[in-house]
Amino acid sequence: MDEREAALRRAHDHAVRWLASLSDRPVPARAPVEEIVRALGAELPAGPSPPAEVVDLMATACEPGLTAFPGGRFYGFVVGGTEPAALAADWLVAAWDQNSVMRAVSPAHSAVEDIAGAWLLDLLGLPGGSAVGFTTGATMANFTCLAAARDALLGRAGWNVARDGLTGGPRLRVLAGEHRHLAVDLALRYLGLGEPEPVPADAQGRMDPTALRRSLADGGPERRPTLVVLQAGEIHSGAFDPFEETIPAAHEAGAWVHVDGAFGLWAAASPRHAALTAGCAAADSWATDAHKTLNVPYDCGLAVVRDPAALRTAMGLHGAYLIHDEHGDPIDKVPELSRRGRAFTVWAALRSLGRSGVADLVDRLCRHARAFATGIADIDGATVLNDVVFTQVCARFGDDARTDRVLEHLLADGTAWITGSTWHGHRVLRISVSNWSTTDADVDRTLDAIRRAATAT
Ligand SMILES: *Cc1c(COP(=O)(O)O)cnc(C)c1O
Repeated sequence: MDEREAALRRAHDHAVRWLASLSDRPVPARAPVEEIVRALGAELPAGPSPPAEVVDLMATACEPGLTAFPGGRFYGFVVGGTEPAALAADWLVAAWDQNSVMRAVSPAHSAVEDIAGAWLLDLLGLPGGSAVGFTTGATMANFTCLAAARDALLGRAGWNVARDGLTGGPRLRVLAGEHRHLAVDLALRYLGLGEPEPVPADAQGRMDPTALRRSLADGGPERRPTLVVLQAGEIHSGAFDPFEETIPAAHEAGAWVHVDGAFGLWAAASPRHAALTAGCAAADSWATDAHKTLNVPYDCGLAVVRDPAALRTAMGLHGAYLIHDEHGDPIDKVPELSRRGRAFTVWAALRSLGRSGVADLVDRLCRHARAFATGIADIDGATVLNDVVFTQVCARFGDDARTDRVLEHLLADGTAWITGSTWHGHRVLRISVSNWSTTDADVDRTLDAIRRAATAT
């Protein structure tokens, strides 16, 4: 057996052991950064080591510092686990080492990207023929879509951003819900668009359509080019903006409408939950993640733009580059040039789940979220604060201090990991059910742990 094969076999064994440990290991990491640094050794070795030994050292030294993200009882932030087919596909992505930049040199990746892209549009109910770019996550997917929006809107106003930059051009107006994700602000900042004007929302974080209409009308007689950013899935409540009212209003005012649907856009793939996204397909661009609800490994986001030419204007290489394909290349749809074959994992997850599997996944996550809401509402002194319409549950235990103590107990207990957050000025426990492998038993074990934490405080 050569050195490479030996290293791969070790990696395989460590991976299988790690995955088997997920159902019973404590969810939070047990060792802090310094301890892992000590175990690894901070000194750069003077010379080479056998690859298999390096893999062994990394796996053993790092193990106590790993959080059980891919397990069924991690409910922090909004993250997903890894579907088995997607995980195995990701190993091949590393072994194949395809630079997925151009159709001519990586036909296999381009084929998979074309197929997976078309499947995504179908499942998410988005217009066929839209361009689908595979990015590192929803932050970059938002960035990619908003770059297309910026260039198209300024282009319509007679300004060529690609050639002349932003300085001296018309100033774009950006309206976004007051409960948007901060990733939208990051993307706008990277694009030189500054902070958006916040549009008021209701208690669940849904944009108020009357307030949007008012803001659009306030644009003044000279009417600046306008971008409206909506949201499918608010991180605290899981709520969706009212697309059927907001998108036509924004379009009437000549605006480009973008939807940040990092985890929520997947509601469209479930007949039971698709009503949450009603009207959403009328927008001009959509950002979502594959590494959240779809459960592919990090990192993978999806930028969808209705008008492929607009995306190409913003992201494409202007000028002949090596062996450019006349139909456009993957690099024409995302910020990076050289990049890994991200579409392979998305294709594998979708091919493995099929249409009904994706719908079942979404329905299961939502069902677990409702079970959490019901279970928590029965705990003495606990209140569920949001309408549980999707995968998010926000709960409070009396006052801020007790809510924080419950969280502290829960994390020390180690059964589950839940994010502490602040919503409407109050401390809350925020549960996000995003992992394909979460079972009813995981939910029960977590509810028991929450009950223990509540009793102890
Ligand atoms: C997670 C999330 C983002 C950011 O996505 P990343 O994949 O972490 O870059 C943006 N918007 C919403 C609503 C999110 O939940």
